[in-house]
Amino acid sequence: MTATQQKYQIVIGLEVHAQLKTASKLFCKCSTKFGAAPNANTCPVCMGYPGVLPTLNKQAVEYAIKAGLALGCEIDLHSKFDRKQYFYPDLPKGYQISQYDKPICNHGILNIGTKDVRILRIHMEEDAGKLVHAGAERLHGSDYSLADLNRASTPLIEIVSMPDISCAEEAVAYVKELRKILLYLDVCDGNMQEGSMRCDINISLNLAGQGLGTRAEIKNVNSFRSISRAIEYEYKRQSELLDKGEKIVQETRLFEETSGKTFSMRSKEDAHDYRYFPEPDLLPLILEAKHIEEVKASLPELPVQKKNRYVLEFKLNEEAALAITDDFATAMFYEKVLNSGVNATKAANWLIGPIAGYLNENKLELSETKLSPKLLAQMISLIESGIISDNIAKNDIINELLATGIDVQKLIDEKGLAQITDTGAIEKIVKDVIANNQKQLEQYRSGNPKIRGFFVGQVMKATEGKASPAIINDLLDRLLV
Ligand SMILES: [Zn+2]
Repeated sequence: MTATQQKYQIVIGLEVHAQLKTASKLFCKCSTKFGAAPNANTCPVCMGYPGVLPTLNKQAVEYAIKAGLALGCEIDLHSKFDRKQYFYPDLPKGYQISQYDKPICNHGILNIGTKDVRILRIHMEEDAGKLVHAGAERLHGSDYSLADLNRASTPLIEIVSMPDISCAEEAVAYVKELRKILLYLDVCDGNMQEGSMRCDINISLNLAGQGLGTRAEIKNVNSFRSISRAIEYEYKRQSELLDKGEKIVQETRLFEETSGKTFSMRSKEDAHDYRYFPEPDLLPLILEAKHIEEVKASLPELPVQKKNRYVLEFKLNEEAALAITDDFATAMFYEKVLNSGVNATKAANWLIGPIAGYLNENKLELSETKLSPKLLAQMISLIESGIISDNIAKNDIINELLATGIDVQKLIDEKGLAQITDTGAIEKIVKDVIANNQKQLEQYRSGNPKIRGFFVGQVMKATEGKASPAIINDLLDRLLV
């Protein structure tokens, strides 16, 4: 559904939580590694024992600054941490250390192709733990729950957009673009399934010109597909209520993957419900302008810059440059292939053509295959030097390299895939073909040039596609007259 097909305007703002890729937690030395045994990565600080003191992780601050700069934010040299107080069994301190009125980054922009989405702020905060619902399943839970505090105090940045998003497609494009930038910066692993990135969707509907409607917030949506489905469902739900003249309740809702529906969780709390106050155990976060300049200078090439460079330097078209730079790992792979001196356009075409096709079909990432940049470069060189044909490479070689990583020369030798470039051998076949197809020869000689293609086809068939097309054509020039 696009914005123009909707009866009501949708107004969407996103709050994206991204886990920073630090080795240790935000306020203690515990590991942030995913998948450890429950409560293995905990200590008195992240378990909320009384009397312990938090120590701020410098690396996390560095990563937050990087994200802010890459998103065009102003970095506040004087920010601070606050306590956000609520009760939940996965939050043993009874409060979360977050940033309230003085976040580290403000006023950024993220371009999503069709528009600029304004970013209101980026603040740092610690994650809560996780409840594991055990025992007999009931509709909204289970008999009892277990608390796993491995996640507790993992560093997060929360990137809050302005309500500039007007449909599900734009919301997905926004999160995809944001994820791409964070991956390029190497500050977040972007793994949505493991919860490294998740988003809260604020959504309201209004009739054109009638001000903002009441919003619902859908919590913790963690895949592109769910973002899209949750918004579609919420549009339907809210528009049906409005059609009936009913009011939208301001509330927090939960998206359920299996049914594709959202359910009311609780009435939406306002900021004052949390009784924010400055964290007394941490000093204000004071940064130096010089330091920010240094971080700015150290930023890597970002997706848009890389795409533009590929167009200029490698003469790729926009579409190809975008396809390759869309995934940081693919772009790195591509640059390594080019280090071997192969043609930039040809290498790009292999990546976005047959290789992308294989990855799609097998639901794999490039890094999960056996193909190395060196191997792909070797194969392209063998095509360029006429040892193998483009078609043989497409039909008989590339998938084998992706699946097994076999040495390409060995594969060609074992399966006899090399092009036949022996003019004498091909000449004999061309002569045989002509001798066996006298009727077609007469047609050609009486002025039907299309028949030439028939002869090329017959020679290719006789050589299993391995004869060099250039040699066949030279021979036909000579022998058909
Ligand atoms: Zn700890």
